[in-house]
This record gives sequence, structure tokens and C-alpha cells, in this order.
Amino acid sequence: MPNNPLILSGKEVSLAVKSDLNVRIEKLKEKGVIPGLTAVLVGEDPASQVYVRSKERQSAKLGFNSQVLRLDASTSQDELLKVVQDLNQDEKVHGILVQLPLPKHIDSQLIIETINPEKDVDGFHPVSVGKLVLDLDGFVSCTPAGILEIMKYYKIETSGKHVVVVGRSNIVGKPMANLMIQKKDLGNATVTLVHTRTPDMGVHTRQADILIAAAGVPEFITEDMVKDGAVIIDVGINRVDDASREKGYRLVGDVDFTAVSEKCAAITPVPGGVGPMTIAMLLSNTVKSAENSLK
Ligand code: NAD
Repeated sequence: MPNNPLILSGKEVSLAVKSDLNVRIEKLKEKGVIPGLTAVLVGEDPASQVYVRSKERQSAKLGFNSQVLRLDASTSQDELLKVVQDLNQDEKVHGILVQLPLPKHIDSQLIIETINPEKDVDGFHPVSVGKLVLDLDGFVSCTPAGILEIMKYYKIETSGKHVVVVGRSNIVGKPMANLMIQKKDLGNATVTLVHTRTPDMGVHTRQADILIAAAGVPEFITEDMVKDGAVIIDVGINRVDDASREKGYRLVGDVDFTAVSEKCAAITPVPGGVGPMTIAMLLSNTVKSAENSLK
């Protein structure tokens, strides 16, 4: 009999998140505050352009005061620092995001550390990361925060479960593992984090009650690496060549969706899974920052 896993639709959850945000935005407007989000894009990386356009469109749809500063790829580090410092001072701007990757001649970490932590809606500043680890209120990196929302919406139990995270990036793997070990309802998990230096990764992934794949390798989590009845969260967004598509490529996750669907209890699709949540949480962090500005 074919297995019919629950499809964890980030599209659906993101609509619910945005609908809640609408109520909070109205309350802010009554107090004369319009959430302001400024994205800074340096250069013409095609994927970054797509992401920034989408962030711009969605924040405008919610009635944000949103703008994108598009800077030339030759912008110097000092010029970019000045742009960020000016945004730090601008009271209308509650959220600043500098789209990564930056051109090689710019020190990304320095730029991130220059953003006022109170406007760090991406959650990349060391202050935000520190607060996350200490379980203090702050801005949580949008992708892991979005995964928590998916878990909350679909009532996925994490307490006492074995969560295996694949990938140790600063923006997904590390914050995700930290969130899952927090002493709270959406946490309390036993966490294993595997990465490129883990020998025989399958030994670990096969033990996962919840498997979170964030490696950026197309469809490399295969059926034999997954336990029966596991919950699969696929963070990967990978372009693979596909001549049958108009664009010449299609998007796939890190998980072999068709094969793994035969075994798991629930799975996020790509696209339409974690992706829409990342932007929803960016909007949510910006509304939170706007609310904080009234305190
Ligand atoms: P990254 O390249 O910064 O980090 C990938 C991590 O995976 C590294 O720590 C590396 O050690 C590990 N890794 C790579 N290959 C591996 C392998 N074969 N076995 C085990 N570990 C391996 O990437 P990232 O920024 O964390 O993003 C990961 C993926 O998620 C990418 O496909 C990216 O496009 C996607 N992503 C999606 C969203 C979203 O909104 N859905 C957001 C951010 C990133």
C-alpha cells in the first residue's frame, strides 16, 4: 500500500503567520507606526535578486514602508558601512537586511556586526545569536524560526524526540540545533548535528525521529537514510538542470522527496515548504522590531 505522508505546507503556515501579522500591523498603525524594512543588495547575484524582489513584494503587500537599496558590485566596504550606519540612525527603518553573499572584497561579518542589533531582523548579529543560545528574547534567524512555526502549526512533538540536523551553517544548522535543545515545549529534543566531516552520516540520520536537512546538496537524503515514520524537514533549495522547463532548471530539496515519501510520516515539499516561511519570519521579526520601538 502506498504511504501517504502529511505534507507540511509552509505556504499554508506562512498565510496564517501573515494573517496574524496583519492584526499587529493595524495596531501599530493606530499608534502612528508603519513597520519599515530596508534590504540592501550589493551586485547582481541572480538568486539574491529573486530573494530580494520577493521580500520587497511581500513586505509592500502587508503595507510596510519597504525599500531596497540596490548598490553596484563595486561598492566599497566603507561605502556599505556608511549605508548601514545611516539606516541604523533612521527611525523609520525597523529592520535592516543586507542580502548575502556580498562581493568578495567586503567583509560580511563586519557588515553584519555593524547593523544595530535592535534592527537585526535576519538574526545574524552576534548579539542575536547569543540571545538565541541563552534563550533570551531576540531575533531568531528566519529559516529556523520558520521551521518552528511549521512544527507548531502541525503539532509536531519535539520533546524527548531525536532530532538530527544535517548542516552546520550559521544561518540554518547551528541555530536550528540550538532551538531544538531549549528547555521548552518546542524544544526538549535530543539533538545530533552532522556535517561534511561526519563519517557514515546514515548511521545518525536513520535514528532521527525528526530529520532536518540543510546541506545544499540536491536530493542526497535517500530512502535508506530515513527511519520509518520520521518527520522530514527539507531546507535545501537547489537548482538542477531540466531541459523540459522553460527556465532550463527546476528546484529540488536536499531530500529525494518521492522515495522518502514512501517511508516518512510527514514531509515539507520543495518548493512550498520551508521557503515561504523564511520570508514570513522576516516580516514577523520586522513587526516585532516596530513594536519594540514603542517600548
Ligand atoms: P551552507 O552551504 O552555508 O551550509 C551547508 C552545510 O551543510 C555546511 O555546514 C556543510 O558542512 C554541510 N554539508 C554540505 N554537504 C554535506 C554533505 N554531503 N553531508 C553532510 N553535510 C554537508 O548552506 P545554508 O545556507 O545552510 O543552506 C543550506 C541549503 O538550504 C541550501 O540549499 C540553501 O539554498 C537552502 N536554504 C534554504 C532556505 C529556505 O528559505 N528554505 C534558507 C536558507 C538556506
